[in-house]
Amino acid sequence: MSASQLSTLLVHGSGHDAQHGGVHPAIHPSVQYGHARVEDLIGVFQGTNKGGFNYARQGTPTTAALEALITKLEGGVGTVSFATGMAAIQAVFFTLLKAGDHLVTGDQVFGNTSSLLGTLEGLGVQVSRVNACDAQAVAAALRPTTRLVFVETIANPTTRIPDLAGIGRVCKERGLLYVVDNTVTSPALYAPRVHGAGLVVNSLTKTIAGHGTALGGAVTDTGCYDWAAYPNLFPAYRQGDPRAWGLQQIRKKGLRDMGATLSSEAAHRIMVGAETLSLRLQRCAATAMQLATFLEGHAAVARVHYPMLASHAQHAWAREWFGGNGSWMLSFELRDEAALVPVLNQLRIPIKATGLADTRTLVIPVAPTIFWEMGAAGRAAMGIAEGLVRVSVGLEDADELVADFAQALA
Ligand SMILES: *Cc1c(COP(=O)(O)O)cnc(C)c1O
Repeated sequence: MSASQLSTLLVHGSGHDAQHGGVHPAIHPSVQYGHARVEDLIGVFQGTNKGGFNYARQGTPTTAALEALITKLEGGVGTVSFATGMAAIQAVFFTLLKAGDHLVTGDQVFGNTSSLLGTLEGLGVQVSRVNACDAQAVAAALRPTTRLVFVETIANPTTRIPDLAGIGRVCKERGLLYVVDNTVTSPALYAPRVHGAGLVVNSLTKTIAGHGTALGGAVTDTGCYDWAAYPNLFPAYRQGDPRAWGLQQIRKKGLRDMGATLSSEAAHRIMVGAETLSLRLQRCAATAMQLATFLEGHAAVARVHYPMLASHAQHAWAREWFGGNGSWMLSFELRDEAALVPVLNQLRIPIKATGLADTRTLVIPVAPTIFWEMGAAGRAAMGIAEGLVRVSVGLEDADELVADFAQALA
C-alpha cells in the first residue's frame, strides 16, 4: 500500500454510521442484540448470520468497525479486538496452545509478554528464548512439538530488530504458525504478512491510537497460514472456509470465554486516534532521528539505540522493511550512571512516565523501573545498561525538544 493510499484508508477505513449518516461509526453501548426473527438469532450462534451480534462480550458494531479497519491496514482476512494489547497476546497463547506444546520466541520481548510466557511455562507449555536476529538460532530451537514462533518488530527498549524475513522463511519451510507483534512499527510502517506472518498482534494503545487515552489490542489473521494443518483447533471451529478457523477459535475462546473485551467507547477513541497515524509517525520519526543524531554526538552519552542511525546493528533491515521510518522509540546510555536521575529531573518538556506512543514525549530510566524486577544480572544478560534512558518521542517541536535535552545534559 502506498503512503497516499494509507492516508485515505486511515480516514475512511472504519466506515460511517449508515443509519443516520453520521460520518463516524456510531458508539454502540448495548450489551444485548435482538433479532426480529429467531432464525437470525440462531444464525449468530451457528455462524450462518455473518455480521450478526448477540452479546457484547463477543463484540459490538463499534468494535467490528475498528476490526474492519485494522484488517484493511494489515492486509488481512479478519481481526479480533481486545481490551488491551496484553489481552490480545494472552488470547493467542491461551487459545492456541496446550500443555506439552512448545513455542520459540526472542530473548528480547516486551517485559509483560515475557512474564506471561513464564505463566504459560507453569501450565506446561515449553518456551525457548533465542536471539531472534539470527534465523538459524530460531530454526535450531524448533522441536516436533513446536506450535508457533513469536517475535516483535522493534524490541523495547533496545530497538533491536529480529530477522523478520529469515524467521518467516523458516516458519514457511516447517509449516509453522508465525506470530508477529507489530505494536512499535504498526501497519503504517510494516506489514508482517509480507514475510509470511499468519497472525499479527497490535497493542492499539500505542502507535495506532496514539494519544494515551485508550487501551486496546488486536489479533489479525493475514490469511498466510493454513489452519487445516494446526493441531489444536476444536472441531466446532473447523467449519466453513479454513482460512477463518484460527480466528473463530480466538474469538470464541479468547473473547467469549476469557472476556477481555474492548468497549465500544474505547474502540471509538482508537478509531479517531488512528486517523492521524501516518502523520504522527512521519513527524515523531523525524523528531526521533534529530534527537538521536544529537544524542549520538554528545560527550555524556555512551550509545544511542535508534534503527535509523547508521550505527544501529540492524539499520539495513530497518531501512528495507520499515520504509526508512524508525518509529517513535529510542533509547540512550549515559556514560555516568549516577547522572541518570539528575539529568532526567532537569528535563522540562518530556514527562517522566512509563508508557509509549503518546502525543507527549515520555522518558523513563529503564534499570530502576521497567527492568527492575529482573535484577542487575538479568539486565546485563539482555544488554540493558544501568544508565539507559528510554524515550517515546511525541509531537512537540523538534528543535525545542533537542534544546531541552541539551540543557539537561549540560
Ligand atoms: C505495550 C505493549 C504491549 C501491551 O499492550 P497494552 O495495550 O499496554 O496491554 C504488547 N506488546 C508490545 C510490543 C508493547 O509495547
